[in-house]
Amino acid sequence: MRAIQVTRLGGPEVLAATDLPDPEPAPGELLVRTDAVGVNFIDVYFRTGTYGTDLPYIPGSEATGTVVAMADGVTGFSVGDRVAWASAPGSYAELVRVPVSVAVPVPAEVTAPVAASALLQGMTAHYLVTSVYPVQRGDTVLVHAGAGGVGLILTQLAVERGARVISTVSTAEKEALSREAGASEVLRYSEELAVRVRDLTSGEGVAAVYDGVGRDTFDTSLECVRVRGIVALFGAASGPVPPFDPQRLNKAGSVFLTRPSLAHFVRTRDELLWRAGDVFDAIASRALDIRVGAEYPLERAADAHRDLEGRRTTGSIVLLPE
Ligand code: NDP
Repeated sequence: MRAIQVTRLGGPEVLAATDLPDPEPAPGELLVRTDAVGVNFIDVYFRTGTYGTDLPYIPGSEATGTVVAMADGVTGFSVGDRVAWASAPGSYAELVRVPVSVAVPVPAEVTAPVAASALLQGMTAHYLVTSVYPVQRGDTVLVHAGAGGVGLILTQLAVERGARVISTVSTAEKEALSREAGASEVLRYSEELAVRVRDLTSGEGVAAVYDGVGRDTFDTSLECVRVRGIVALFGAASGPVPPFDPQRLNKAGSVFLTRPSLAHFVRTRDELLWRAGDVFDAIASRALDIRVGAEYPLERAADAHRDLEGRRTTGSIVLLPE
């Protein structure tokens, strides 16, 4: 099979297209031929060594495709089924071994590029608005990187729950996309940001800040949140937040800080199917629009990473095997 393999950590150039032996499904696994592969910021953290991994490895954890083989004794799926997943290592490949526990059926009306973008970013947005801070009608929330993969989905889900969304973006094109997703106010990152957010909330601050940018926005996030509000620091696109004095949460107004991960919000099969089902249902009913901002051949995974890290992408991005 063709796959992307990483033999040393580093820049996008370490993502090398190569021929590897076809894998066999181990007990409890499906073997899936991929139709589209999701590219996520976490793939960058593994490639650069921010998160540890053994070498060599095949990057990626999210894709969609068709079941071509199953281990003996596997039930609940059949050869020919369309499935998607958010957490099977080695997904930048034509063939992927997918544990049955993480495979989710894909509704017929959801296209492959959308299915490959829906679960990791969609279920993240879902747990952020339902479980980390359950957004209430009338809340104002702040979404950083509002035109990114998670950002566009998060904005739509928060608006759907009755919130007013303020977002941040870096360009006019991204501003237009964030507004289309439902943001009422779209701001640029600047020293004035916290003042602007306070002005827009009668001096109160927002109920929740959803911050996937990290180092560059974290201090501002603390200045934008209301007394007893919550800062959900769910990523580090600009780099990790440095060590932190908890007393700052007191000064900010008895603020809650959490650093959540999707894995902890899909711990049981029931929870995974609930979140995935909500996301796929919303896509199928057109209540949720997943923007696939760019598609790259699998072989050009390095270009996809360059664009993602270079802030040149909008919405979700996918790799397409030949
Ligand atoms: P995005 O599509 O949002 O891409 C990242 C965006 O972050 C960029 O487009 C850019 O938007 C913004 N950004 C701000 N500063 C920088 C910088 N210095 N370098 C690069 N980008 C920057 O990516 P994803 O949707 O895949 O992920 C968004 C965040 O969510 C990431 O931090 C990711 O790790 C996190 N995440 C966390 C999960 C969890 O469970 N904890 C699960 C899934 C994702 P702009 O130019 O407008 O600023």
